[in-house]
Amino acid sequence: MPEPSNGYSVLIVEDNEMNRDLLSRRLSRKGFEVTLAVDGVDAMEKMREHDCDLVLMDMNLPIQDGWTTCQLIKDEPQWSHTPIIALTAHALTNDRERALIVGCDEYETKPIDFARLLEKIHRLLADKAVSPA
Ligand code: MN
Repeated sequence: MPEPSNGYSVLIVEDNEMNRDLLSRRLSRKGFEVTLAVDGVDAMEKMREHDCDLVLMDMNLPIQDGWTTCQLIKDEPQWSHTPIIALTAHALTNDRERALIVGCDEYETKPIDFARLLEKIHRLLADKAVSPA
């Protein structure tokens, strides 16, 4: 049984349909309003159309990769405080470091440990709530 809305909206940027659907269903069940994007350019469009509180960003994306997209989002003043969690394909230290360099607030390695991801989401949203606009 799904929980009632928790008032937060999350943008999931993921080109793999199975991963996207799985994350979407699990977050919806936790009360998040979910918006989906399938590549980096689509992500930018969805950011403009929706007021997303947090972004889950797959790094390996077609058209425009997650690193570039993360940097472009963080460069926009209206989104610079929007938390981004990078989803990296493997536990490569280089991938994590690159994600943090382009402005991602956190990273999670695939396969996703959903309980741990949820903790990170809640922590970032709580931090955001107390930080100045
Ligand atoms: Mn991908």
